[in-house]
Amino acid sequence: MNFKTLSVCLDMYGCPNRCAHCWLGNTPNGNLTKDDLRFVAEQFRPYTNDFEIFDWYREPDYHDDYKELWDLTANLSDHKTPHFELISFWRAVRDETYLDWVKSLGVRQAQLTFFGGEAITDRYVGRKGAYRELLKAIELLLEKEIAPRIQVFVNKETLPELPLVEALIHELRLPKRCGEFGETFTAFVHAGSCDGVNEKHYGIWITEEELVKIPPFLAQSTLQHFGKPNLQTVFGEAESVLYARMAQDESTHNYIEDAPVFYVDRKFDVYPNITAPDTFWCLGNLKADGAEAILRRYLDNASPAQYTALTVPARELVQAYGDPNSGRLFECGDYRNLLLNRWCRERQ
Ligand code: SF4
Repeated sequence: MNFKTLSVCLDMYGCPNRCAHCWLGNTPNGNLTKDDLRFVAEQFRPYTNDFEIFDWYREPDYHDDYKELWDLTANLSDHKTPHFELISFWRAVRDETYLDWVKSLGVRQAQLTFFGGEAITDRYVGRKGAYRELLKAIELLLEKEIAPRIQVFVNKETLPELPLVEALIHELRLPKRCGEFGETFTAFVHAGSCDGVNEKHYGIWITEEELVKIPPFLAQSTLQHFGKPNLQTVFGEAESVLYARMAQDESTHNYIEDAPVFYVDRKFDVYPNITAPDTFWCLGNLKADGAEAILRRYLDNASPAQYTALTVPARELVQAYGDPNSGRLFECGDYRNLLLNRWCRERQ
């Protein structure tokens, strides 16, 4: 067994937030040790010549030891991916050395997520005060000449709040202020994938006719960000269209790839990075089973979800769990995962 590359993300400390759209699920936070991180790396690294380990898959840089953990993961890996534009706004407003450190790693844009105004953003982030922290983080980022990148999740409930986000962007003059230090300001809206906690929002999922309600600046920035010609191609196709196509589709799906990413949760259960880490995707427990057996299960499509994907045709999935009359918009792969998750959940 030798993968082209193999990436493993260990959920060492979890996340300070409990977002209502979180596809990773709102599980309790862990408190793992650096020896746990070393153990996970030792387990997986024999199975590739290009290994990388991350100390998080929920909130980056959440633990006070984030700088040491950055160096340790670099030492335990064959290569180190540059710091993503994903930062911890929780840490940014509590740790005055954090943004200098982030900038020293080459980060020039940092993503912040809004859901509308203060009340709805606090509610969706799952923490009172989150909105005010986001506002403070914007100012701190600008001080360090890092451009805030605003992401907004859209559903029927957040849609009426989008003008508030657009007004905030204008009020804070974000495009101009980012331009002053040579960065382009970016904002974008999308629905996210309908899995994890966000699956609960299926009932209020955005439909095609609602796209015109997205305010003009956010709409235009979204198209620029994704490089798409119109919002429909950002949000995907109507469920009725996907249903009609899949109802004729006898194909099954094999999720195996030669450069997989695995998530290891605080109890050392291992999941492929495909959709929400639900029990039917679990490949085993690293402590109990070891990496070899877990990777073998992955390659054998042995988890209930992978086995179902490989053996149940798209037609059966959609006929069992799709809605032929729904105008909700989904990207095709996300929609297949939604149906697969529903199928597996009912049979576990
Ligand atoms: S979406 Fe991100 S920040 Fe929100 S709860 Fe999930 S992991 Fe944490």
